[in-house]
Amino acid sequence: MNTMLMEAPVSATTDYLALEAEYGARNYKPLDVVITRGEGVYLWDVEGRRYLDCLSAYSAVNQGHCHPRILEAMIKQAGRLTLTSRAFRNDQLGLFYEELCTLTRSHSVLPMNTGVEAVESALKVARKWGYDIKGVPANQAEIIVCADNFHGRTLSVVGFSTDPASTSGFGPFGPGFKVVPYGDAAALEAAITPNTVAFLVEPIQGEAGVIIPPTGYMQKARELCTRHDVILILDEIQTGLGRTGRLLAEEHEGVEADLTLIGKALSGGFYPVSAVLSNKEVLGVLKPGEHGSTFGGNPLGCAVARMALKVLVDEGMIDNAAHMGERMLAGLNAIQSPAIKNVRGRGLMIAVELHPEAGGARAYCQALQTRGLLCKETHDHTIRIAPPLVITEGQVDWALEQFDAVLRG
Ligand SMILES: *Cc1c(COP(=O)(O)O)cnc(C)c1O
Repeated sequence: MNTMLMEAPVSATTDYLALEAEYGARNYKPLDVVITRGEGVYLWDVEGRRYLDCLSAYSAVNQGHCHPRILEAMIKQAGRLTLTSRAFRNDQLGLFYEELCTLTRSHSVLPMNTGVEAVESALKVARKWGYDIKGVPANQAEIIVCADNFHGRTLSVVGFSTDPASTSGFGPFGPGFKVVPYGDAAALEAAITPNTVAFLVEPIQGEAGVIIPPTGYMQKARELCTRHDVILILDEIQTGLGRTGRLLAEEHEGVEADLTLIGKALSGGFYPVSAVLSNKEVLGVLKPGEHGSTFGGNPLGCAVARMALKVLVDEGMIDNAAHMGERMLAGLNAIQSPAIKNVRGRGLMIAVELHPEAGGARAYCQALQTRGLLCKETHDHTIRIAPPLVITEGQVDWALEQFDAVLRG
C-alpha cells in the first residue's frame, strides 16, 4: 500500500465534524452526533454511546436499522446481479411488481429510485394523461398542490413549494402549478378548472410538522377529483409503508388515490427505491422511450424492496406501529409541561409542538441527545417523533421517561 495515500486516522466526533466542515456542502445542519452502527431501533456513535433513533431517517428505516433479512437479501442479490438497465429484463422486476401490486391492490407500477423521482414521474404522467385522455389543450395542464407541501428537492418540485428556504434563489420556476391551503376542500374545488389534470397532496404533511387534515378532507378531495376528472396523487413517501399504523395512510380515510407515491421505507433504508403505484390505467399513457431511469427497477433494488415489504408484513410491524403509536401518543399527552403547545400524531408519526416562548425545539433535541434519544426538530418549534416500527413497549416507555424529563425541564 502506498503509505502516502493512507488517510490520517480519524476517531473522535470533532475530527469527523472538522472533515465535514472542510469538504462538505453546507446544505444540512445535523445534530453533532456521528453514527457508526445501527441495529433495530438503536444507533451507536463513534464514541460508543447508544441512542434510541426517533427519526428513522425520515421514515426510510421503518423496518429498523440493518434488518437482518433485508441485509441477507441485499448481499445475496449483490453477488448475483445488480444492474442490467431496462434495455434488458431481469428476474427480480416482475416479482417486485407482482408482490407490490398484490399488497397495495394496485394495477401497475413505475419503479424509480428516490422519492422526488417518483413525484416527478407522477407529474409527467398526469400531464400526459391530461393531454392524451382528458383532452386538455397542449401545454395548458394545471396541477394543484397544497401550501406547506414537501415533495422533494428538484427544480420543478421546489418550484411549487411555499417554503422560502426551498425556493428563494433557485428560480425561475416552470408554470402549471396552483397552490391551495391544505385541508380546505372548498379552496380545492374553487381552484379546479377544465385544464386541471391532477391534485398532488400528502395524507399527513410530514415536513410541515405532522399536520393532520380535518376529518373528511381526503374523502371530499377524492370526490372532487372524481367529479371533475382530476387525478388524485397521494404522496405517501413518508406516511406509507406502516408509518401511520396502516400500510398506506389513505386507508385511515377510506380513499383510494389514482396514483400513489412510495419511497423511503420501500427499501428499509438499504438502497434508494421508489415507485408510482397506479390504481387506474393512468400509467398506461406512457409509451416506450417516453420516460425512464438507468437504475429504476434494477434487480438489486427490487430484491431489497421485495424483502423490505415482506418483513413489514410478516413481522407485524404495521400493527405494532398502530399500538406503539397509541402508547407513545397517550404518554406524551400525559406529560405536564408549560412548554408543550400541542401533541398530535397517527401511528408512529408524531409531533410535539412547543410554545414559541419555550426557546426552540433544537435545544430540546440536544437535551434528548444527551439522554440517549435522537430526535430532529421540524421548523423551529416542533419535535418530530418517528422511531422504527419495531419499537417495543419497554422502549416506548423508556423514551417517554426521557421526553418527560426534558420537557418538564
Ligand atoms: C422525503 C419525501 C420526499 C422526497 O424523497 P427523496 O427520496 O428525498 O427524494 C417526497 N415527498 C415526501 C412526502 C417526503 O417525505
